Amino acid sequence: MRLAATNLSLPFNADESALMMLLASELRVKQEDIQSLRITRHSLDARDKADIRSIYSVSFELSTENAKRVALLGLKNVGKLPERSEREPEQGTVPQDAPAVVVGLGPAGLFAAHELAKRGYKVIVIERGKPIAERKADVETFFSQGLLNTNSNVMFGEGGAGTFSDGKLTTRIKDPRAEDVIDTLVKFGADGNIAVEAKPHIGTDVLSHVVADMRKALQSMGVEIRFNSCMTDFDTRDGRIVSVTVNGKEKLPCCAAVLAIGQAARDTYRLLVSKGIELVPKPFAVGVRIEHPQDFINWFQFGIQETLPALGSAEYNLVSQLSHRKGERGVYSFCMCPGGEVVAAASEEGGVVTNGMSR
Ligand SMILES: Cc1cc2nc3c(=O)[nH]c(=O)nc-3n(C[C@H](O)[C@H](O)[C@H](O)COP(=O)(O)OP(=O)(O)OC[C@H]3O[C@@H](n4cnc5c(N)ncnc54)[C@H](O)[C@@H]3O)c2cc1C
Repeated sequence: MRLAATNLSLPFNADESALMMLLASELRVKQEDIQSLRITRHSLDARDKADIRSIYSVSFELSTENAKRVALLGLKNVGKLPERSEREPEQGTVPQDAPAVVVGLGPAGLFAAHELAKRGYKVIVIERGKPIAERKADVETFFSQGLLNTNSNVMFGEGGAGTFSDGKLTTRIKDPRAEDVIDTLVKFGADGNIAVEAKPHIGTDVLSHVVADMRKALQSMGVEIRFNSCMTDFDTRDGRIVSVTVNGKEKLPCCAAVLAIGQAARDTYRLLVSKGIELVPKPFAVGVRIEHPQDFINWFQFGIQETLPALGSAEYNLVSQLSHRKGERGVYSFCMCPGGEVVAAASEEGGVVTNGMSR
């Protein structure tokens, strides 16, 4: 029988074999009775700096007989694991008189193309920037010499914005599809730990390979991917996009278009407005980027200055409500980049944009 246990607490530097001992003693079974032990969640509890703890959730197998005995103990942190059903997507049934065009090959475009291709739809992706290896060279030139390529930079190109960061997988929503996203990233080469860590990140050196492997998989599923291809115009009929113009020259007929263009493509947003597409302004937050020494944050959070491999770079999260009256403003920290730095992230001539990223 497959069971789960939560809230198993060990010193942060304890060997993972200690986890098996701890679980066996909590369940009052022998270690060899526990099969297929798997960590499903890991986080740090550093409230007591003299005793920083690793907190684990695990799944494991027990024989039915042992599971019954464990149930009698009435442990609040142990329970039966719900079965997770693997769903194959159904094949699409919408007739296509032309391919669906996905504009942009950032995370949204990659996953949109993947979902469409899995359902058997014919898809073309157009991306204004370059494939990742060429894009990398342009970004390095920008960082070292300040020479900007307006179509190949920190924001534009294969993988979209954030491709050269360490890919923190932060989401503040509880959407069941988040699990599918994690599974897909693992399938394309991300470490399985991203499904386990409370604050997962893919890692700078791995992220670019995951993106390139996902693109290759899309191509092997029949998706056509065109780089150096900017959507400069489009035609509509009866309120639908029926063709997309690439680089001011070629018209691509399409049955539907997914505009996965991110937030930096101001020229494309101007195009949308000029074509009468209604854009709805959203509330926005203003703030500043602050850079401070990592050893200060480590000391403050962990009581140790150096970055220990078992703890990683410390981070923090601050929230303060300025008043408790409804609708009043609050201040909060956003996109803390542990072990990272403030970077220039411009994509327009004369534009100054800062962002932050861990590497
Ligand atoms: C330096 C940096 C670090 C970041 N780190 C993180 C992080 O660690 N974790 C995290 O969750 N988020 C991070 N982000 C934010 C994250 O990258 C974005 O939220 C995410 O990339 C948005 O995905 P998207 O697909 O919607 O858009 P984007 O990633 O912006 O992709 C849009 C794509 O569309 C293309 N495009 C635009 N216009 C056109 C056009 N007209 N024709 C053809 N192609 C077009 C662009 O070239 C681009 O490749 C970071 C961002 C930056 C800049």
